[in-house]
Amino acid sequence: MKKITDLDLKGKKVIIRVDYNVPINDKGEIVDDNRIRESLQTINYCLDNDCKIILLSHLGKVKTEEDLKKKSLRVVAERLSELTNKEVIFVGATRGDLVNNTISNMKAKDIVMLENTRFEDLDGKKESGCDNELAKYWASLGDVFINDAFGTCHRAHASNVGIANNIKEKAVGFLVQKELDNLLPIINEPARPFTVILGGAKIVDKIETIRNLVKKADYILVGGAMAYTFLKAKGIETGKSLIDEESLDFAKEMLSLTDKIILPVDHLASDSVDNNNYTTKEELDINDIGLDIGPKTISLFESYIEKSKTIFWNGPMGYYENPTYQNGTKELCDYISKLDITSIVGGGDTASCVINMGYKDKFTHVSTGGGASLELLEGKDLPGIGAIK
Ligand code: AMP
Repeated sequence: MKKITDLDLKGKKVIIRVDYNVPINDKGEIVDDNRIRESLQTINYCLDNDCKIILLSHLGKVKTEEDLKKKSLRVVAERLSELTNKEVIFVGATRGDLVNNTISNMKAKDIVMLENTRFEDLDGKKESGCDNELAKYWASLGDVFINDAFGTCHRAHASNVGIANNIKEKAVGFLVQKELDNLLPIINEPARPFTVILGGAKIVDKIETIRNLVKKADYILVGGAMAYTFLKAKGIETGKSLIDEESLDFAKEMLSLTDKIILPVDHLASDSVDNNNYTTKEELDINDIGLDIGPKTISLFESYIEKSKTIFWNGPMGYYENPTYQNGTKELCDYISKLDITSIVGGGDTASCVINMGYKDKFTHVSTGGGASLELLEGKDLPGIGAIK
C-alpha cells in the first residue's frame, strides 16, 4: 500500500478524503476540533508540495431536507482556515458548475472544500451506497487521491472506496498511516499482559470485537452501562441501570467461555442521570441506577492495568455527560497516564473524554475512528484501506 510520501505530488491537484465528522452543538459551534487538527500534517505536506488541495468529508447523517441546513461543512471550513492561517474556499455544493469552475480556477496552494458528501444521500444514498457515477465524477476532479479519513475506513462509500477505484494515483495520508502503525501491532503482537478496557452503553455494536478480544487479550475490564448487562447475565441485581437487553445471551455465553472478564464490585448509584447525589454501593437495590464505577472497582481495575504492558480502551466508565459521573473515567486516565506502557484509546466517546480531560498527550495513541478501530480489532480488513492497496 502506498503512503503519501511514495507519490510525486509536486504541483498536482490532490483530492484528500478527510474525516471532518466533528461534534457540533445546538448553536452550530464545533465542540471538539481534534479531527480537523489531526488532518493538518497531510494538508501541510500538500501545501509544501505546491498542490491544489480539494477536501471531501461527510458530517453526520443526512436524511431530510432539514439536515441540509444543520449539517453544512461551512463552519468546518472556517475552523480549518483559522488553523492553517489560510483562506479555505468553501463550495456549497457536491457537484456541478460551481464545483467545476472553482476547481478549474485553482492556483497552487489553494484549498477548496466541497459541501458534506452525504448531501448526496438525499438522492438515493449515492454517497453511502458507493454510487460509481458519483465516485467517477469526484475522482475526475483531481490527479491524485489521498485517503486520510481513518474514521470512515470501515465503510465503502463513494468518497473513499469509490474514488480510489476510479483513480490511478492513490495513497493513504499521514493520519491513516499513524492509526495503522499504532493499532495493528496491538492486534498482531501486543506486548503482554494485554488488557482491554470496555465501557459505554451498547454491547450489540461490539459483539464481534469482544469475541475476538476474548481470544487475544489477557484481561477484559468492563465498566460503564455495559457492565450491568454482564452483571444481570450473572443473575446479579442491577436495579434500573441501563441494560442492553438484546445482548444478555451473548454476555452469558462470554462469561461461560472465559474468566478474563473482570466486572465492577461497587457503583455510584442514584435515582436519575441528572441527580448529582449518589450513594456508593456494592449491591444495587431495585430502584438504583448505576452511573459510574465505585472506588473499589477503580482500585481493582488499576491492579490489572498496573501489571499490563498494553492497554486498549473503548467506552467511558460512567454516564460522563453528567460531570458527577466522570470520576471513574478520569481516575483511570490519570492512572494510565503515569505508567510507561503502550496505551491506545479507540476513538468515539472515550477519545472525547481523554481529550477534554486533558490527557491526550499522555496516551501512546488516541484514535480518531471509533468504529474503524473496533473493526480492526475484530480482525477485519477495512474497505477504505483495501481500495488503496
Ligand atoms: P457507546 O456509544 O455504546 O460507546 O456508549 C457511550 C455512552 O454510554 C455514553 O453516552 C455514556 O454516557 C453512556 N454510559 C456509560 N456508562 C453509563 C451508565 N452507567 N449509565 C448510563 N449510560 C452510561
